[in-house]
Amino acid sequence: MKAHDALYIDGAWRPAADRDVIEVVNPADEQVIGRVPAGGALDVDTAVRAARAALPGWAATPPAERAARLTALHGALVARKDEIAGTVTAELGSPLKFSEAVHTSMPIAVAASYAELAATHAFEEKVGNSTVLHEPVGVVGAITPWNYPLHQIVAKAAPALAAGCTIVLKPAEDTPLTAQLFAEAVHEAGVPAGVFNLVTGVGPVAGQALAEHPGVDLVSFTGSTAVGRQIGAVAGAAVKKVALELGGKSANVILPGADLARAVNVGVANVMANSGQTCSAWTRMLVHRDQYAEAVELAATAAAKYADRIGPLVSARQQERVRGYIDKGVAEGARLVAGGPGTPHERGYFVSPTVFADVTPDMTITQEEIFGPVLTILRYEDEADALRIANGTVYGLAGAVWAAGEEEAVAFARRMDTGQVDINGGRFNPLAPFGGYKQSGVGRELGSHGLAEYLQTKSLQF
Ligand code: NAP
Ligand code: MG
Repeated sequence: MKAHDALYIDGAWRPAADRDVIEVVNPADEQVIGRVPAGGALDVDTAVRAARAALPGWAATPPAERAARLTALHGALVARKDEIAGTVTAELGSPLKFSEAVHTSMPIAVAASYAELAATHAFEEKVGNSTVLHEPVGVVGAITPWNYPLHQIVAKAAPALAAGCTIVLKPAEDTPLTAQLFAEAVHEAGVPAGVFNLVTGVGPVAGQALAEHPGVDLVSFTGSTAVGRQIGAVAGAAVKKVALELGGKSANVILPGADLARAVNVGVANVMANSGQTCSAWTRMLVHRDQYAEAVELAATAAAKYADRIGPLVSARQQERVRGYIDKGVAEGARLVAGGPGTPHERGYFVSPTVFADVTPDMTITQEEIFGPVLTILRYEDEADALRIANGTVYGLAGAVWAAGEEEAVAFARRMDTGQVDINGGRFNPLAPFGGYKQSGVGRELGSHGLAEYLQTKSLQF
C-alpha cells in the first residue's frame, strides 16, 4: 500500500499540524518502506472534537444501521485481505503465510462477530419495574500495540462502533500502515464522518495527549504493563473509564498423564508464533520431574525447526531487549538447549528460537515478559507445586493445561489465576472474553463481554 501523508480525521485525510514524521521500517531487511505523520497534541484535539461532534448522531443511529456499517466494514477488509497481509508482513516482518492465516483472518472474523452482535445484542432489558438502557460510553481513545496490528485495532474499533461510540485511534508507531488501511476500509464502509478518526504518532506525545484529553470518556489501551499503569493513573485522576490489555507470562502446564509430545510441540509452536511477540504466549512450560528430561529434548528439537521459519522481531530495540533477556537467563544459571543471544542473519532484527532448561521460578526470565521467541521450561514436584509455579507471577493473561482427561485438566484450570486457559489444545474462539487477571489488565475484549466495555447502563423506573 501507499502511505498517506495525512491523518484521517472527520471523514477525510488531512495534513497534520506538526511536520514531524515517523519512518516505517521493514524489520526483515531494515529498509524504510514509508513515512506517516507523527501527530501531536493539536491533532489529537482536532480528532477528539470531531469524535465528540459525531457522537450524538452515531449513538442515536439504530443498532441495525450500525450493524450494516460493520457488515460493510467486514466486506471492505475481506476485499483488501491480500493488501492487509502484505502490509503486515512489510511493517511487522511476520512470514506472509502467518500474516494471511492470523493477522488478516482473525480480525476479519472479529469484525464479522461484531456485525452480528450489533444486530442481535439487547440494548434494552427489563429488570422488574425498570427498563435498563445500554448506552454508548461516549468518545473512545484507543491506543494499540504493533504485535497484532490489525487485530488489536479491530478488537477495539468494532465493539466501539457496535455500541454507538465514536473513536480516536493512536496506533503503534512501528505499524501505522496497517492502521491507515483500516481507516480506508472504515471510509469505504460508509461510516459517518467523525465516528472513526486516526492519529498516527508516538506514544509519549500523541498517545499521552489522547489519554489525558478531557473529551475522551474511555481510554482503551493494549500494550506494556508499564505504560498501562501510567494510563490507568491518568484515567483514574480524571474519573475516566479505562480498559487495559497488558502483558503476560502464561503457563503451559503439562500434567503427568498428558500426551507429552503433543503438549510440548504445540507449546513450542505457541511460543514461536509471531516470533514470540504474543501477549498470551505460554512462555513458561511446566513439566513433572519424571518427564522433564524427555520434555526438554522434545522442546529443543521442536524449536530448532523454527530457525528458518520465524520472522524478525519488530524493531532493533525489541531485538536488543530480547537478547538482553537471553544473556540474563544465562547469567542467572539457566541452561540453553536451543538458540541463544547470537544474531542468526546479517540483516533484519532476528533472534534465534531459544529454549532454556533448568529454569527456576524466581529467575528474571520466568518472571518478566520477554516478548520474543524464548521458552523457559520449569520442573515441578507435584500438582500443588505446579499450581504454585503457574500462579507465581504478577501476570495472569492466559495459559494451557494438558492432562490424560478433560476433567483433570479443567480441575487444574479452575485453580489458575488467569483469564483464559486452553484445555488439551483447545482452539481459539473469537467470541470468548479475552483479558487478564492480576497485572495483566482490567476489562475484557471480544464477544459480548468486549461489547459491554463500551456500554454504560441507564435505569428507568416505572
Ligand atoms: P508500549 O510502549 O506499551 O506501546 C503500546 C502503545 O502505547 C503504543 O501505541 C505506544 O506508542 C503507546 N504509548 C507508549 N507510551 C505511551 C504513553 N506514555 N502514553 C500513551 N501511550 C503510550 O509497548 P512497546 O514499547 O511497543 O513494547 C514494550 C513491551 O510491551 C514489549 O516488549 C512487551 O513486553 C509489551 N507489549 C505487550 C503487548 C500486549 O499485547 N500485551 C503488546 C505490545 C507490547 P509507540 O508505538 O509510539 O511506542
Ligand atoms: Mg513504546
